[in-house]
Amino acid sequence: MADSAVIPITELTFDNQFAQLSDCFYTKQSPTPLSNSHLVSFNKSVANSLGFELTTEKKDVDNLVSIASGQKLWPDAEPLAMVYSGHQFGVYNPQLGDGRGLLLGEVRTPSGDRWDLHLKGAGMTPYSRQGDGRAVLRSTIREYLCSEAMHHLGIPTTRALCIVGSDEPVYRETVETAATLIRVAKTHLRFGSFEYFYYTRQQKALKELVNFAIQQYYPELVGSNNQYEEFYRQTVVKTAQLIAYWQAFGFVHGVMNTDNMSLLGDTFDYGPFGFMDDYDQGFICNHSDHTGRYAFNQQPSIAYWNCACLGQVLVPFVKPDTIKQLLNEFEIAFVHKYADLMRQKLGLIELTESDQELVQQLFTLMQKNSVDYTLFFRHLCDFIPNEQNTFIRDLFIDRDGFDSWAKQYQQRLTQQTDNQVSRSQQMKSINPKYILRNYLAQQAIDKATKEQDFSEVNQLLQLLQRPFAEQSVMEHYAKLPPEWGKKLVISCSS
Ligand code: AMP
Ligand code: MG
Repeated sequence: MADSAVIPITELTFDNQFAQLSDCFYTKQSPTPLSNSHLVSFNKSVANSLGFELTTEKKDVDNLVSIASGQKLWPDAEPLAMVYSGHQFGVYNPQLGDGRGLLLGEVRTPSGDRWDLHLKGAGMTPYSRQGDGRAVLRSTIREYLCSEAMHHLGIPTTRALCIVGSDEPVYRETVETAATLIRVAKTHLRFGSFEYFYYTRQQKALKELVNFAIQQYYPELVGSNNQYEEFYRQTVVKTAQLIAYWQAFGFVHGVMNTDNMSLLGDTFDYGPFGFMDDYDQGFICNHSDHTGRYAFNQQPSIAYWNCACLGQVLVPFVKPDTIKQLLNEFEIAFVHKYADLMRQKLGLIELTESDQELVQQLFTLMQKNSVDYTLFFRHLCDFIPNEQNTFIRDLFIDRDGFDSWAKQYQQRLTQQTDNQVSRSQQMKSINPKYILRNYLAQQAIDKATKEQDFSEVNQLLQLLQRPFAEQSVMEHYAKLPPEWGKKLVISCSS
């Protein structure tokens, strides 16, 4: 993505390929404007990545707010609600679709990249079912901050351009206010987009959609005789790699339904997600997930299951045996990526056979001692061989347990020829100092919703754009969460 142009954001040029497809894939729909809207936050970095910027001129800011609140459309935007279905908590739901968001269109950046812009919270659509078509300010702040945090951690994700708030009441567990968010993504096609046409037996439409996806996202495959196989293989591999990132960074998505699985392996649709504080392999962040289907340690097998759902849909184009074979690539890609990320997190130059055991022992110890996942790895960057490393050791109740692990780790480090300074530097580029802990997001939400003060949202946005940097004045954001912060129950309503 280019970073140079200074074209005002209000002059985006659209290229609505999706809207040219047969009309079974969407319903064209205008946003329902939000009343009394105001800008909550604008992400310059995303605008620059799109090749645009928001000038400081009042008319440009006003224009953006009008657009993001659904009062006005970008010239050439062709808003539409996309059709999809999906497996929710393992059960097929035949009709989902964009119930409160609209694809405004696809943008071409000056450098030729293509991005989907989606207005979340844009009002009712034919797919709203019992919903009101709105999103609350609380949930847009969570998506806005977390997607940006993920991007800067190097984890594939959608991003968000801005949040606009309003005084329009929205009824969830309590009365909240409506907001919108402009989501920027490489695609808004989900596994569920394809499932809909397979399960409604619309094979011609399904083929049109698969061909569209190949043409848009894998143009190099068009016309090749294994295009469908390769399309599936790459989707499986990208999904597996994404989950490896989640596992390595301690991220739990919370609602890995197939309608929330991006076709291009991006983290997609932020709901009751959470970064683990204390290491807990069974961590559940979604409080309506009573069986722990989407717990931290279930994510790889659920993603595999979701890929199998996508494979099923491709049966008209790919032999079932081939689909099974291609699905096997999930495990290979996941294990490979995850091992590589853990290697980097431990500061190892190359993997040896015993490293898996070293990692496993560490996790067992961290689980028993409820050690903070992010803080531990950041502290480990400053591990000095042959010293007591009290600052790390003190994170464990079982100090002897830590000592014995540290002894093995130290021995492992002697097998490589790097020096402590360069190792520490490398480790600090993969082990973040700052993550979006639930309690940090909550503090920003409280300020925004109770005091209409968005400074904390903007402060966190800036902080999380440099998660690996020391940022000394921000030190307090890297501390262990307070007890109340660990016990926050994140509402699934959004
Ligand atoms: P989500 O849980 O955000 O992934 O949404 C699941 C489905 O419910 C999608 O079809 C959404 O469009 C729809 N949905 C969620 N919230 C609302 C709402 N407030 N109004 C209308 N539809 C909604
Ligand atoms: Mg969703």
